[in-house]
Amino acid sequence: MSFDVTNLGQDSPESSASFKFPKKATAPTAPTPPKIQLTSLDNAIPELSSMPHNHLAKPSNTNPKAAQERDPKFVYADLPSGFFFYDFKQLAVSNVKGSTQAKFARAASEKRTRHVVDAISSLLPGDITAWTLTIPDFYWLMYWIRLNFYTKPTLIHTAICTSHSHLEKIRDKKLPKETLSSVHTITNTSLKESTLDKAKIDRLENFLVTAELKFLEDSPFDLCPATIRDIVDVEENFSEHEDYSEIEHLIDFSSFIQYKDPEMGYASQEVRLKYVADLDVAHLDTIKEFASLVSDYGVEESIKVKCPECSADIVTRVSISAHSFL
Ligand SMILES: [Zn+2]
Repeated sequence: MSFDVTNLGQDSPESSASFKFPKKATAPTAPTPPKIQLTSLDNAIPELSSMPHNHLAKPSNTNPKAAQERDPKFVYADLPSGFFFYDFKQLAVSNVKGSTQAKFARAASEKRTRHVVDAISSLLPGDITAWTLTIPDFYWLMYWIRLNFYTKPTLIHTAICTSHSHLEKIRDKKLPKETLSSVHTITNTSLKESTLDKAKIDRLENFLVTAELKFLEDSPFDLCPATIRDIVDVEENFSEHEDYSEIEHLIDFSSFIQYKDPEMGYASQEVRLKYVADLDVAHLDTIKEFASLVSDYGVEESIKVKCPECSADIVTRVSISAHSFL
């Protein structure tokens, strides 16, 4: 799925009746890592009575930094969503410790996103959990942590040249095809960052006024931004499913609805997948439009190297992972 972040002061407009954000994107308590490895997400994730749900945060011109005093012991991360989807308006992040590092190591060796989310959560204040962050905010925060707390990492990258002239020489047997591949030590990647700005928020609010959302009225669901928990849910419960290629298509819709009633907690992907599988395509289109409007911010990392054979620039998108911290 695509991934691509504060609201201040004002009340929800009437038009947001059908648009539920987490009442509080804060967990009741700090999540504690499971002692044993659980396969069911419901058992393993601390109960989050508060998904990104239940009120439409409104932007304002108030500077979130000025809203509350900041504690000099922490470093503050200004999420690219501008905290639009959450009740909290600032995010203090503590220094990375050995225990955090151990979680990243475990995530890398077990290839499980759950441990990355736990690692990030362990750096946040007790009433905020990384599990309810939107996907773009979560990945942005990973980059932010790497940039703030780690010394400059180097990375070994194998690049494949795709320049037309180089490929022609391979075809004409003037060069061996091995020349397409080259190994580089990377010390600098480029990060492209975007925020959920006023224009994007206006587009989202306009959509909520004009979109045909009646189909949700008789359902327990409302539109809601996808969170990192959705990614873990899919990874742990569906990635090995025999019908995964079909499920993968539906996840892009199921990830953007959640229970209207925060008392109902987290609606699993399983429950939501069943619901979206029965929706008309016109309704799926509506969810898709919402998904793009609430995902258009965050960070992308790319690497640019030169092909040693033909000097063409090779640009490759890369994704941050637990390995990036080790
Ligand atoms: Zn080349």
